[in-house]
Amino acid sequence: MKVLCIGRNYREHIAELNSALPTEPVFFMKPDTSILTRNRPFFLPDFSAEMHYEVELVLRICKVGKNIQKKFAHTYYDAIGIGLDLTARDLQSKAKEKGLPWLASKGFDNAAPLGKFIDKTAFKDVHDIHFHLEMNGVTVQKASSSEMIFPFEDIIAYISRFITLKTGDLIFTGTPSGVGPLKIGDRLEAFIEGEKLLGCSVK
Ligand code: ZN
Repeated sequence: MKVLCIGRNYREHIAELNSALPTEPVFFMKPDTSILTRNRPFFLPDFSAEMHYEVELVLRICKVGKNIQKKFAHTYYDAIGIGLDLTARDLQSKAKEKGLPWLASKGFDNAAPLGKFIDKTAFKDVHDIHFHLEMNGVTVQKASSSEMIFPFEDIIAYISRFITLKTGDLIFTGTPSGVGPLKIGDRLEAFIEGEKLLGCSVK
């Protein structure tokens, strides 16, 4: 399986990083070795001095698809979860300056803590899912899927033009504003519609 991630999908986050507003989705991959499950702790790696959290809704792909049309895209995922797109911001900034790939800054081991998934049918409206991230008990990121520049269907249609989606693949759908640095001792908890689905301690 693979982990695909959308960058720049919420206006306020684009502004906080001084990025340009995209006309097409920007996407990248994390290897499967980046996934961290079962609320296990995250150990800060020695290669970065500026590790950022980014909370994101995550789609779970449920069938194989290529060149998926937008109108059928909703049938290609069956569950929605929440995850962290951990980013070595110092490495990423250097890579951006030089026009180099983001793989090291976003694809390192355990860079994708992943919470529990909720069946898609449990949501009244997948285009208005509220989610938030608490750090040490304080809300630091809060948004709704209604604020996305590219909604789920657009993301699935766009990525599948280039890359075949397979059962079990995951798509991180972008982070809202409020990203920030982590330090040892921080506690992260992520929620969808008020339900805690992910906990992660930074060590
Ligand atoms: Zn992200």
